[in-house]
Amino acid sequence: MGGGIPMATKYDAIVIGTGQAGPSLAVRLAETGMKVAIIERKRFGGTCVNNGCIPTKTLIASARTAHVARRAGDFGVTIQSTIGVDMKKVKARKDALVHQSSEGVKNWLQNTKNLTVIEGQARFADAHQVRVGNELLEAEKIFINVGGRASIPPFRGIDQVSYLDNSTMMDVDFLPEHLVVIGGSYVGLEFAQMYRRFGSEVTVVERGPRLIHREDEDVAETIKTILEGEGIAIRLGAECIGLEKRGDKVAVQVDCSSGDKTVIGSHVLLAVGRVPNTNDLGAENAGIKIDQRGYIQVDDQLRTNVPGIYALGDCNGRGAFTHTAYNDYEIVAANLLEGDQRRVSDRITAYALFIDPPLGRAGMTEAEVRESGRKALIGKRPMTQVGRAREKGETEGFMKILVDAETKKILGASLLGIECDEVIHSLLDVMYANAPYTVIQRAMHIHPTVSELIPTMLEELKPLE
Ligand SMILES: Cc1cc2nc3c(=O)[nH]c(=O)nc-3n(C[C@H](O)[C@H](O)[C@H](O)COP(=O)(O)OP(=O)(O)OC[C@H]3O[C@@H](n4cnc5c(N)ncnc54)[C@H](O)[C@@H]3O)c2cc1C
Repeated sequence: MGGGIPMATKYDAIVIGTGQAGPSLAVRLAETGMKVAIIERKRFGGTCVNNGCIPTKTLIASARTAHVARRAGDFGVTIQSTIGVDMKKVKARKDALVHQSSEGVKNWLQNTKNLTVIEGQARFADAHQVRVGNELLEAEKIFINVGGRASIPPFRGIDQVSYLDNSTMMDVDFLPEHLVVIGGSYVGLEFAQMYRRFGSEVTVVERGPRLIHREDEDVAETIKTILEGEGIAIRLGAECIGLEKRGDKVAVQVDCSSGDKTVIGSHVLLAVGRVPNTNDLGAENAGIKIDQRGYIQVDDQLRTNVPGIYALGDCNGRGAFTHTAYNDYEIVAANLLEGDQRRVSDRITAYALFIDPPLGRAGMTEAEVRESGRKALIGKRPMTQVGRAREKGETEGFMKILVDAETKKILGASLLGIECDEVIHSLLDVMYANAPYTVIQRAMHIHPTVSELIPTMLEELKPLE
């Protein structure tokens, strides 16, 4: 071999990234006898496993335990000492779970026949070749599953201060005195409530006029009331956010015009959205189309514009959740291996916000139903009228459902209340079954549960004015 140009190692398929779609797809392809390579540049399992879903929900469980312990007296339970939170132990518990999951993914991949695991940064050399360090890999089929990372906007003064993001938050093993969370959406609110419950002073700074702007106003307002009730300060309409070092603290400018203009925090967490990991992928060498925000453009079956190259998970901009990434894997596998033409557009919007009480969402919001102009019915029930919530002493929130007045199909639901991250699935499944709401209205549900009130709520539907 002359000129120092490495020969490419040939595979049938290359998978870039070990997030929520790549590993399952790589293993599935390898099991069919294909020779497959999977490449990971950091930690196996990607965002969800290492600095997303799994660690945050593990930390939230510790925070909830502290919260419930502080409320023990409400339930007639006496605790003789004060409630303390050992942040080193909280982190160690989280680390153990993350380690187990990440190692699990790594071992699974390494022990799969026909699958080669390569560690390093993958970069396209052309439409069929990928370079990892000095290695050159070649395949007819390449699957991109590179995910995303926290967006760091060019706030004034950002280069003068230190700040945290969802990844660096994972190293925190102490209690910040005052955590300023910039961004009042899903990631920011979960951290905000978690740290308040650990014992920090917490301020949420949001540029928009309300929290989680994608949700209905009543949902956003109720969440604001719940969080303020726990002592979290919320600053909305912070249109000119700037950061400034003040001794060992950080001043966050939150107001452009009047009033108290700065919040002084000991630590700042940036939670203002995500960006796809496509800037250093060499996608241009393969001619892959990327939109202005960095998302890889795909069709309904997740094919890019380049034949044989697919993009799955957060990097294609068609979803931002673990379940959407995993569903992408199922779609690609069904199309390639089963002759089943599953599509992204088959899926129904579904996700949860894991604050306490959680928000379970399916389908359209009320605002989207109104915008669509269709005739609809609405049902709403406060959690104070749900026996199970009263018994458990957690009556914050409400359940809301929207139904098409003509077809009787469920259009969407926002369930904000205890156990609603689970309850939402009873509606989601009826939506997938494409059945009318009357099916669930007539169903006999178990007493006493939150779900038993779903049929009752459906009996009380009113026209959406
Ligand atoms: C704080 C937080 C909490 C979250 N909580 C939830 C939740 O509760 N529920 C939920 O559904 N979703 C949640 N999410 C979102 C969820 O984590 C993501 O949607 C999901 O991980 C996306 O998976 P993915 O497969 O697209 O990519 P990722 O999981 O991001 O994986 C991509 C992988 O590719 C690797 N990679 C990138 N570029 C290269 C390259 N060039 N070469 C080699 N390797 C590369 C990365 O290192 C990474 O391991 C949360 C996210 C955050 C930030």
